[in-house]
Amino acid sequence: MIPGGSSVPVVPAEIIMEANMDYDSLRNAGSAVGAGSVIVMDETTDMVKALERLSYFYFEESCGQCTPCREGTGWLYRIIRRVNLGRGTMDDLDTLLDVANRIEGRTICALGDAAAWPVQSFLKHYRHEFEAKIRAGQARAA
Ligand code: SF4
Repeated sequence: MIPGGSSVPVVPAEIIMEANMDYDSLRNAGSAVGAGSVIVMDETTDMVKALERLSYFYFEESCGQCTPCREGTGWLYRIIRRVNLGRGTMDDLDTLLDVANRIEGRTICALGDAAAWPVQSFLKHYRHEFEAKIRAGQARAA
């Protein structure tokens, strides 16, 4: 579940089911109230594909004024797309976190953080899905 719209960290069911929908509880759960626009995904959701879609949104919405966001959102989107298409490598996952960490807190407006947090949280909680997609792609190419 993403409790506050796409710009706040995703939280797995086992954590969010124990949380209340208030500022302190969601902060303790590792996310935020944000815009309050709750996104719920079930076990059939492809989390790599979901993150690709979110990253494309922030890539498209970046106004380009500050370098970390202008360049970083494009890098995030392109790498996640590559992983989703089965052409990624395990190193790509570390690069994604590196890029997201270089955007977070280094931009003029909140869109930079909003682009970084989904990437950080998806990889924190669902890294195994990204790794599985990479391994499947490598197996097809072998
Ligand atoms: S962080 Fe905000 S101001 Fe900076 S490039 Fe992104 S959208 Fe523009």
